[in-house]
Amino acid sequence: MRDATDQTVLITDVAIAPVAGPEIRSGYIRIEGDRIDELGPGPAPDVPGAARIDGAGCLATPGLVNTHHHLYQWACQGLVQEATLFEWLVALYPVWAAMDAEVVNGAATAGLSWLALSGCTTTSDHHYVFPKGRGDLLAAEIEAAREVGVRFHPARGSMDRGRSKGGLPPDSVVEELDDILAATAEAVDAYHDPSPSSMLRVVVAPCSPFSASAELMTESAALARARGVRLHTHIAETLDEDEHCLEQFGMRPVDYMDKLGWLGPDVWFAHAVHLSDADVGKLAATGTGTAHCPSSNGRLGAGIARVSELLRRGAPVGLGVDGSASSELTPLAGEMRQALLFQRARYGPRALTARQALELATLGGARNLGRDSELGTLEPGKLADIALWRVDGPFTAAVADPVCALVFGPPPPLARVLVGGRTVVADGELRTLSQDAAGRAGAAARRRLLRLAEEQGVTAAPH
Ligand SMILES: [Zn+2]
Repeated sequence: MRDATDQTVLITDVAIAPVAGPEIRSGYIRIEGDRIDELGPGPAPDVPGAARIDGAGCLATPGLVNTHHHLYQWACQGLVQEATLFEWLVALYPVWAAMDAEVVNGAATAGLSWLALSGCTTTSDHHYVFPKGRGDLLAAEIEAAREVGVRFHPARGSMDRGRSKGGLPPDSVVEELDDILAATAEAVDAYHDPSPSSMLRVVVAPCSPFSASAELMTESAALARARGVRLHTHIAETLDEDEHCLEQFGMRPVDYMDKLGWLGPDVWFAHAVHLSDADVGKLAATGTGTAHCPSSNGRLGAGIARVSELLRRGAPVGLGVDGSASSELTPLAGEMRQALLFQRARYGPRALTARQALELATLGGARNLGRDSELGTLEPGKLADIALWRVDGPFTAAVADPVCALVFGPPPPLARVLVGGRTVVADGELRTLSQDAAGRAGAAARRRLLRLAEEQGVTAAPH
């Protein structure tokens, strides 16, 4: 493992898909500190004392950016396997009510390691369940992200609309409005780092229209805008949600968000599957982003998002694996393929190209997080967050185009993942901490959560 130092790093003899600018069949990338200094075709310049990474047989892309997740759900994968979103949530809320900081730290350590091992260098996490007296759950996942070494945008989520107020979650897992706003402000003040090269930025994120009150939504937006941080929530994931919004608010989800002041370039939504033509136009016109989570949408039978139409209208779209309880071991790299196949199944073979799928996973994600000036492409001056995919394997080498091999096939092995020039993965193995220990932490979190839930009289089943 190499720490980012003053030493120059050269990645040599490598194919480069920079996402911005022309692709390079064989070239080099020069890294100074935590930034890309230059890249180009041909042999690398001779820099005395430089560290060299042999990129022969590899494709370099920007590190992937994950824009929707619930890391704690690593601890409850494989449960409630055949259910709609609302059925799945109702079955799992009581299990989640039992989680504590130890569960969150173990689950996040495993989940973040898994992300790094599929080429992810920056991830957000939407944590919205804060049972009383269970420790500092946000701090627990932040600690895990520091250990794994990925850039982290934790979203302080919240729910204040329990069943007694017409919401979906039981009252036992929701918080009071004032407590939420105080804890969210505290999280921003304690952890948010707005500086360039930041490894951690906090997001404000009430959970969804069916679990957060209108007041929580508007107060959260005011808080986020006063502090200059971004906003995130779930919307338009299923038709059940459409019905809920029509019944309770007299309008569909995007119109409701518009009414609450929740459209704009500082907002991105998870899912946004069920959009009308007017909704697509509103998201595009306001620069509101979406996190497309195709595996989770498929797993819960939610539907196929109108990604290619959003892209055609210029709206920002990134990818997300979503929580592991609704996508299990989904690798972020695999979501490029899933997105491409879903769009083509819905709109035909020209709906999304391999390059567009790669752009969703990189620059699209960076736009959602408000970091496209620093992340999402390989260009001089940008952060050295780079994935090196090994595309010279005995089978992958048969594919004429390395970007096609990356997107159309299963994720190829990773020769290297760099975050700000620092090695996080090398030769397919995590280098910042023991990969086995990370896996064991996730398994221990699962055992602990299910035991704590059982102590509260709750059992969760696969079906
Ligand atoms: Zn989600």
